[in-house]
Amino acid sequence: MDFCNLKSQYSLVKEDIDRRVLAVFEHGRYIFGPEITELEKKCAEFCGVKHALAVSSGTDALLMGLMAYDVKPGDYVITTPFTFIATAEMIALLGAVPLFVDIEETTYNLDPAKLAEMLKTPPVDKAKIKGVIAVDLYGQMPDYEAIEKVIADSGLDLFLIEDAAQSFGAVQRGKRACAFGDIAATSFFPSKPLGCYGDGGMVFTNCDTLAEKMGWIRNHGQNERYRHKIVGINGRLDSVQAAVLLGKFDLFVDKEIDGRDRIAAIYTEKLSKIKGVKTPAVTDFNRSVWAQYSIVVENRDALAAHLNAKGVPTAVHYPIPLHMQEVFADLGVKKGALPVSEKIAAHIMSLPMCAYKTQEDTDTVTNAVAEFFK
Ligand SMILES: *Cc1c(COP(=O)(O)O)cnc(C)c1O
Repeated sequence: MDFCNLKSQYSLVKEDIDRRVLAVFEHGRYIFGPEITELEKKCAEFCGVKHALAVSSGTDALLMGLMAYDVKPGDYVITTPFTFIATAEMIALLGAVPLFVDIEETTYNLDPAKLAEMLKTPPVDKAKIKGVIAVDLYGQMPDYEAIEKVIADSGLDLFLIEDAAQSFGAVQRGKRACAFGDIAATSFFPSKPLGCYGDGGMVFTNCDTLAEKMGWIRNHGQNERYRHKIVGINGRLDSVQAAVLLGKFDLFVDKEIDGRDRIAAIYTEKLSKIKGVKTPAVTDFNRSVWAQYSIVVENRDALAAHLNAKGVPTAVHYPIPLHMQEVFADLGVKKGALPVSEKIAAHIMSLPMCAYKTQEDTDTVTNAVAEFFK
């Protein structure tokens, strides 16, 4: 069994993807081709956001969001330690320091109450705290209403960036992922809910000024050809990847979002009955897009070995919280300082997930888990 069946997906949209990719080879506008504009328009409309800019990856999307706010050495940006490295890595790349706030035990997302605590008694000069990156972990968004209120109540002038790398397609209180915060950054890495055949991403904002600035940053800070207004990067998505995404887009929206939800529901139905398995909790104001279906168990390694022996691949997202990574050792955040993240990182495990799991697949997975706990 594959962890996610990307080949099944390709067989369904092969004609459309092949036609669109070959069209790029024919028209030759490999960079900023018409596919880019078409994809940006589709994504902006789908997410209900004014501006969408196609970029080179989710990592670069985060970087460009932070650059748009001029994050620099000496600044602090708040985020969670229970996320993929890129979230905190891009803060550090700009010379700023990530300030870690622990997660909720139910959703594994940034805990608004702990954010409020941090902002009430900041461990650093509060004028140096520039913003917050909230992460939509596993495809479910943190409570943005609560986070926005905490930020507003703090009286500090903080930006809010939504790391939506795992949540493209998710919904909270009637609004799509990528429509929260001042800027949202998503990823089209192949294994994300909507993935291309290489690296890709998108930044979103309703603000004209930020959109214009990120447009410059994406293309070496140019506001006109060979006029470099600010420091930027090569943050462009190429037309071929946009063609792939356009070929998949309708299938994702019409079928796969529901399909992923259906597989998750089957897993939860079966697995929540097993003593020893904690299934994921989706809050009543959220619809997850299930970037991962992750369970919490006591004896993770033994369960993984049991499942692997039965032909069921597993993964761990993520085994080490970021404050315990070697790269962030110099921040001096001690083991034990962020106990929820540490506990979940030690016990979380992801099961195979995509819209194309068959009944046989889900039976194999749930039966193998049940057998282990018997
Ligand atoms: C995947 C991911 C990223 C980075 O996206 P890439 O496209 O791989 O660069 C950033 N943040 C989170 C939470 C992710 O899961």
